[in-house]
Amino acid sequence: MPEFELIKRLQAAICSESAPYQARCILGIGDDAALMDMPADRQLVACTDSLVAGVHFPPDTPPAAVGHKALAVNLSDLAAMGAEPAWFLLALTLPAADAGWLDEFAQGMARLAGDAGIFLAGGDVTSGPLNICVTAMGLVEPGQALTRSGARPGNLVVVSGRPGAAAHALHLMLSGEQPDATERAALDYPVPRLALGRALRGLATSCIDLSDGLLADLGHLLERAGVGALLELQNLPCPASMSSLSPRERWSLQLSGGDDYELCFTVPPGERARLDGLAQSCGIELTVIGEITSERGLVARQPDGSAWRPRKSGYEHFREDGVG
Ligand code: ADP
Ligand code: MG
Repeated sequence: MPEFELIKRLQAAICSESAPYQARCILGIGDDAALMDMPADRQLVACTDSLVAGVHFPPDTPPAAVGHKALAVNLSDLAAMGAEPAWFLLALTLPAADAGWLDEFAQGMARLAGDAGIFLAGGDVTSGPLNICVTAMGLVEPGQALTRSGARPGNLVVVSGRPGAAAHALHLMLSGEQPDATERAALDYPVPRLALGRALRGLATSCIDLSDGLLADLGHLLERAGVGALLELQNLPCPASMSSLSPRERWSLQLSGGDDYELCFTVPPGERARLDGLAQSCGIELTVIGEITSERGLVARQPDGSAWRPRKSGYEHFREDGVG
């Protein structure tokens, strides 16, 4: 399939006329670059994330899941900033121009793009080892973006959903077991918490999405804010698929395993009632798992009061053992 044909197929499948900011993409696919008309009362939030076969997804991942996940991880970054999705660019490196693979990939991506209301404004196609790079752009009211740096001592540490299921699915696969469909979906089809991120504007003092594991990602947030945190391990909500694991096995995966794309954020201690209201209105479980401390560092406390640290602390590229 010629490159031009391939781009046409992507465009037909993914570009949606009904995306809220489609009309503000004055020039999309077809020119040298995309041209957007920015709303005067918004700030641009931009992020980019690449997915590499064998690193970010197992090689046997269905093409629709690859398309979904490549966009989902970027939407999750927009969610963590409290931004509204607007446009994205897609740079694809493909080993072959396989129409069947491409159509399934595009369908998976299109479904999520439709749900999120984000418009495909352009991209690039090259041949080489499978690599998908998405650049997502979102909009936020001036001064309203959520950042990592605002956590203050006494703030509650909150997590959405039940992190750990994706890491558990991957752990099963790496040990030669087959996760069931629900478990595998946690890994292949993460749901970016866009509505929650938007709703956290004006409530959360800081926010981060969980891509590399709770310890690693919360650690980044604490570092930026110059504070520490005390986590109560017994408060970590248990994913259904992990109920038969021992507490330590479960905590270890929940703290160190990535790929959940839940949000971890901080709120002032007086905001519990608003937090409960938000969980109701968004239909997402929100759990207080700890508290910000003025003393730096992250301590995870077991039910008996003793501190506990798993062997691995999270995924990190360029480390020889692949873990932090
Ligand atoms: P150039 O040679 O100027 O980089 P390309 O031939 O790469 O142009 O791209 C032609 C047009 O198609 C551009 O508008 C570009 O944004 C769009 N495009 C290329 N690849 C993709 C893709 N994977 N997804 C969406 N749009 C794409
Ligand atoms: Mg190009």
